[in-house]
Amino acid sequence: MRSRALSYFPLLLLLFGLLTGRAFAEESAPPEAKIEAPPTTLRLELYGDGELYWPCGVPYEDPGFAAWDAEGRDRSGDVRVEGSPVAWRVGDYPILYFYPISDGELVAARRIVHVVPQSLPEVTPPPRGTICLTFDDGPGEDTAYLLDVLARYNVKATFFIVANRSKYLDILPRIAAEGHTLGIHCYDHRSYEYLYKDMEHYCTDLLAAQKVVHDYTGRYAHVVRFPGGSRTASLLAGALDGQFSELYGTLADMGMRAYDWTVQPESVTKDTVGTVTLFTHPREPYEYAVVLQHDTRVYSVYAVEQMIQWALDQGYRFAALDETFPEIHFEE
Ligand SMILES: [Zn+2]
Repeated sequence: MRSRALSYFPLLLLLFGLLTGRAFAEESAPPEAKIEAPPTTLRLELYGDGELYWPCGVPYEDPGFAAWDAEGRDRSGDVRVEGSPVAWRVGDYPILYFYPISDGELVAARRIVHVVPQSLPEVTPPPRGTICLTFDDGPGEDTAYLLDVLARYNVKATFFIVANRSKYLDILPRIAAEGHTLGIHCYDHRSYEYLYKDMEHYCTDLLAAQKVVHDYTGRYAHVVRFPGGSRTASLLAGALDGQFSELYGTLADMGMRAYDWTVQPESVTKDTVGTVTLFTHPREPYEYAVVLQHDTRVYSVYAVEQMIQWALDQGYRFAALDETFPEIHFEE
């Protein structure tokens, strides 16, 4: 997507109005005069396509550029860049790369980045009796033990990670390799007021988490769980600056679906029978059970084996969430 080199140089002797960007809006030099100016001795070359289609939700990485003067010296460090795509918002974003010469003249190149929506697969409800175990806030020091238990029973689960838990991230490749789903909880489990202040705060955090997931596994996540759940997200001060209802559409553009939970057994994990009874009787209108636990809570991790044994004995099946599962939302 971003590797094909394209010669683009020396693109233009340029006027300050080339970009629609703010930095040039005030300049009033007549464009004709600039175009007739003698060619510069600087070469400016963009790497990658001058017109780039970028999947929404993937952290933007510019393919880059290079510049040389007449003597062949690398002047890339002197090139300035104006404009930056908002990778979580579908739209067209111009980027101007420029190098001031003299008298208001520029050597410049322009790239247009089209941030385009990702496609989501059709939703397919899982068979009745499906339980999705989900674990928030990890990874943590008990995650490896949890993975051992899950492997023993060949149960696949879903991990909604907190991506700045750098001490434990080395386990992410194992989670993925063993067939579990890596989803995103957030990058930084900071105050909800901060996280849900507006779309930019929330989505910037989300993309930072996506980068971590990709760095460790080579893949991006397609399922997300709001810290505190969607009810918290929609009720809190800020509440995405009144834009909460837009968030599901933005997530869909990013190729993501959001999952709250139907059962929260941790309040009764000391009573395993009570726990499993809770989580195997999903309430209407949900078609399957989504169980909220935390792999950072040792008592919860250590209750999992009994829960699995009980549920398998009763004929239930376990599945890892993926974006084909119907979304679970507390709030619409
Ligand atoms: Zn959490």
